[in-house]
This record gives sequence, C-alpha cells and structure tokens, in this order.
Amino acid sequence: MSVIPGAWRRTAAGAGLLAADGTVAPTIFAEMSAAAARTGAINLGQGFPDEDGPAEVLEAARRAIADGANQYPPGRGVPDLLAAISEHQHRFYGLDVDPGTEVIVTAGATEALTATLLALIDGPDDEVVVFEPYYDSYAAAVALAGARLRTVPLRAPDFQPDLEQLAAAVTDRTRIILVNDPHNPTGAVFGREVLVEVVRLAQQHDAVIVTDEVYEHLSFHSPHTPIATLPDAAERTLTISSAGKTFSTTGWKIGWIHGPAALITAVLTVKQYLTYVNGSPFQPAIAVGLRLDDSYFSNAATELARKHQILGQGLRAAGFTVHPPRGGYFTVADATALGGADAAAFCRALPERAGVVAIPLSAFVSPEHREDYAGLVRFAACKRIDVLEEAAARLTRYSA
Ligand SMILES: *Cc1c(COP(=O)(O)O)cnc(C)c1O
Repeated sequence: MSVIPGAWRRTAAGAGLLAADGTVAPTIFAEMSAAAARTGAINLGQGFPDEDGPAEVLEAARRAIADGANQYPPGRGVPDLLAAISEHQHRFYGLDVDPGTEVIVTAGATEALTATLLALIDGPDDEVVVFEPYYDSYAAAVALAGARLRTVPLRAPDFQPDLEQLAAAVTDRTRIILVNDPHNPTGAVFGREVLVEVVRLAQQHDAVIVTDEVYEHLSFHSPHTPIATLPDAAERTLTISSAGKTFSTTGWKIGWIHGPAALITAVLTVKQYLTYVNGSPFQPAIAVGLRLDDSYFSNAATELARKHQILGQGLRAAGFTVHPPRGGYFTVADATALGGADAAAFCRALPERAGVVAIPLSAFVSPEHREDYAGLVRFAACKRIDVLEEAAARLTRYSA
C-alpha cells in the first residue's frame, strides 16, 4: 500500500480516507475482490451483473462508435439522452422535466452525488442527514465536501427508519437529506410515511432532498415512488439515477440528475470540473434503453426477485437468517447462528473456507455504530442462477 506524501495527507485524512499509518486504507470491496481472485471464490461481494443487458442497447453503443460519436459530448449530455430521461420520468412517474435546463448526464450516480454535495455544501457547520447503513461513497463524498454526517439508523428486520429519530436528526443545520430508495445495502423500500416525513422535515428546515434512485426499476412488491412525486417535494428535490443497474451496464457509468433548474445549474458548475463529460457513444445507447417497452423493465424486476428467492433459499438452508429485500441487488442475512456473530471476521474467512465472497454490513456503517450490525452480511443476487445455486451449495456444505 502506498504511503501518501505528507503535504497531501491533510485532505485525505480530513476526509477520513487515510489509515493511521499514512497509507490509503484499502476498501473492504478491494480486499474481498482480491480474495475472490486469489481463491477462485464466487464473488457475491461487489454488485455487478455477470450477464449482459439488452442487446438493442449494446448494439446502439457499437453503432454510435461506428457512426463517430467519439469526441466530447455537450456538457449537459447528449440532447437525445436528455430528452429520453425526461420522457422516462414522465412515462413512469408523471414528472415533468425540462430536458434543456432541469437535467444533466453524469459519470454514473456517483459523480451526480459527489458534484451535488460539493456544489451545495457551504461549510463545516452544514450537515447531511443519511440513513445508515449507507452506500459507501456517501460518507466519503460528505467528508470531501467538508460537511458533517448525521445518521439515522435502519435496523433489522425491515430496515425502516424510526420517524422520531429521523425528525431528531434534521435541524436548521441540515443542508441535505440524502435518501436512497430502494436501499443499498439493506434492500428496504421506504414506506410512504417515511417519504412524507422527509419532505415535511426538508420544508420545515429548508433543506434540499437528494435522492439516489438507481434501483428504481428493481422494486419487487410495489411500483417505485420517486420522492419528487410527493406534494411540495419537486421544488427542493434532486433526483439521481443511473443506467448501470437498470440495463446491467455498470461499467458504462452513465448516470443523471434532475431537479429545479437553479439547483441543476449549481451542480453543473462543479460537474464541469470533475469529469466535464463522459461516455459519448454510451449516451445515445442509454437513450435507446430508456425507451424500451414496459415489459423490459417489469421483467428485469421479476427476474431479479427470482434470483433473490434462490439465493435466500440457499442461505436459509445453510443456516442464515434471511431478511428478504423489497428491492435492489442485495440480500442481507444474519450469520450469527453459523458462528458469524462477527460478520467482518466471518466474511474474511469465507473465501478460503466456503469459496464464496460476501461483504459485512459493518462496511456500510460509521465506525461507532458497527456493533449494531455485527452479525449481518450482504450478498449480491445479480448473478446467473447457476452461479447462485453453486454459491448456495458451497455455503450449505460449509455449515454442515
Ligand atoms: C451502484 C450504486 C451507485 C453507483 O452508481 P454508478 O452509476 O455506478 O455511479 C450509487 N448508489 C447506489 C445506492 C448504488 O447501489
């Protein structure tokens, strides 16, 4: 691991991204993917599909390259994709988005989120309220933006927030309430009363709602409700999504963000100096994807729900207590009955002992709250059915 020269350490250390000895702390994802490569274990750690997305979308990207879409696209994004995002938001949710002023294409949801935080955070007294556990880039991006993280716990079995704890976390120092629905890593889909309370609190304290909806088409029991569709929400909400999860194109890094023009302009001022632009041949291809028939989107959710079922059965047979997800790529299971009360140690040993890689939920939690999630493990279900069945068989042999 490389040691960062002293003068550069301040930023990284300030953001909590540096280990005590001055090295770059390896993420658990890098560590576990390395373990998967070393041991040949099945990687249910990182959330990427092992099958390609729709052929029309892949073909459209090849065609775009052949047709010369190989130079910088416009800063806000390729007009056809901006139009397709606007059409998509109207078709599925009845939201009106002006493709000229209210949406920009980003290098994945990750850039949309980071640019938003850098744009909207004023100083170290600003707070960002997030639900915990949280997607790992959230805390890093909040720290890089120089704000304070305030967490609201999501606890098993249903991982819905307690509304009183939510209300207590939001104050006049809250600049942003950051929502992720459907939720990674827990698989929760927030109840309407939670979304209503987020909007009420944002209004009361004049905060911006930033909502990460990358799993919008992977909600298993109910149609997705964007928080921007709630009364009085749209005027203060920035909605982030991405093509990666919807079209199994996580490596393309085509995301987007939409909301009121003034907020979008603020995000654009930062985004233009992060990546400026990205993925010119992929942008028209994702426009094709967003215009696919409804059946593509409903099948994607049905197929993934079936994969979760197969994974869940296997995990139960192996002795885990499973918390079935309501959306997204991941199933959370409790390993305590298998001797995994310390899930971090359990996951470190799992590649060698069972030939499977998974991630402890503590990787998505602030250090001071890790005990609360100690026995929980996250498994990716976005893999081929035969791969999931083999993983389940290995875990069952391990526990026998
Ligand atoms: C995968 C994921 C992202 C990252 O999306 P990209 O488009 O790959 O940047 C963001 N948020 C959540 C919750 C995710 O699961």
